[in-house]
Amino acid sequence: MLAEITAAVQSLRTLGELAKAAKSLSNQQEIVMAVSDVNFRLMEAMTVALASQERHSALLTRISDLEKEINDLKIKQSAAEKYSLHKFPTGTFAYRLKDEYEEIQPGHYLCIKCNDTGIHSKLQPFGSRRLKCTTCQTVIQTEADPPSPPKKYVSTARPRW
Ligand SMILES: [Zn+2]
Repeated sequence: MLAEITAAVQSLRTLGELAKAAKSLSNQQEIVMAVSDVNFRLMEAMTVALASQERHSALLTRISDLEKEINDLKIKQSAAEKYSLHKFPTGTFAYRLKDEYEEIQPGHYLCIKCNDTGIHSKLQPFGSRRLKCTTCQTVIQTEADPPSPPKKYVSTARPRW
């Protein structure tokens, strides 16, 4: 980019020299050639300026993208520091707010699936032994269901009278 700016400045300097020289030109053909050369130098300078402007714009976009990426990483890192992986007795997992942060906000769990894709989704109670993610609809069981009562034998045979 510095080389392009230097070339543009050089072209403009040459342009100024040609303009000074044009004053001393005596015949028509020399004037036409000088004007043509000035036009050529101007086109070169404009081309360099446009290329430089495009690169500048691309760099600004890249800086903006990187700033957003840094911000997203800071948010993820902050969230990762506040939560730990928790294993429920059923063997299912969720991210649990660490005890030291429960003074700031009530204890809760985050959906692993959503969190791993950058979405901060709190799990909500779903029945008495399950949590549900309202974003991806994943349901995890946190406690085992009580054993079901023994089934009574029901005969399907017709009674004999
Ligand atoms: Zn989810």
